[in-house]
Amino acid sequence: QREEELELIVHKTILLGDSGVGKTSLLVQFDTGKFNTGTFSATVGIGFTNKLVTVDSVKVKLQIWDTAGQERFRSVTHAYYRDAHALLLLYDVTNKTSFDNIRAWLGEIREYAQDDVVIMLLGNKADCSERVVRREDGERLAREYSVAFMETSAKTGLNVEVAFMAVARELKSRK
Ligand code: GDP
Ligand code: MG
Repeated sequence: QREEELELIVHKTILLGDSGVGKTSLLVQFDTGKFNTGTFSATVGIGFTNKLVTVDSVKVKLQIWDTAGQERFRSVTHAYYRDAHALLLLYDVTNKTSFDNIRAWLGEIREYAQDDVVIMLLGNKADCSERVVRREDGERLAREYSVAFMETSAKTGLNVEVAFMAVARELKSRK
């Protein structure tokens, strides 16, 4: 019986974006397949979840950090970015401010993260009918900054696994 190759590198992956965009919900959906309609604490410290995913028969270990209570721009410590291998940057398609703040987030990232960090921009809450940010707006911004883009829903699970798998695939191909 052939054992699958286990990649030993742990890829530090961080969820970023304004408070309320759905970072914790996205991680919970990816981790457990569930959407918790209850509110998560916005004040608990930064925690992480380890997830082992399989890319082309190779197991890739993602250590996914959920930023909590530090979302306000510039309050996330720069040391936190510095050793990150991947960043999932979220906005909420029903919240224009969260989208407008993406440029500032990307500025911070460009300044403090590794040059080869994998960045995925995610327009979350795509299930909501009250959207104010069009998919094309997200696509255009992503193109401008040369980052990958998807719309997701932590509620329905739309593209949640797809997004994390795309990040894992990119991390594996870059090493
Ligand atoms: P965080 O502050 O970025 O961690 O955001 P949370 O995960 O705490 O989510 C903030 C609120 O948005 C909560 O009430 C969630 O239930 C809700 N929420 C998160 N993701 C989605 C989504 O994809 N669709 C909908 N409809 N609601 C969401
Ligand atoms: Mg949270």
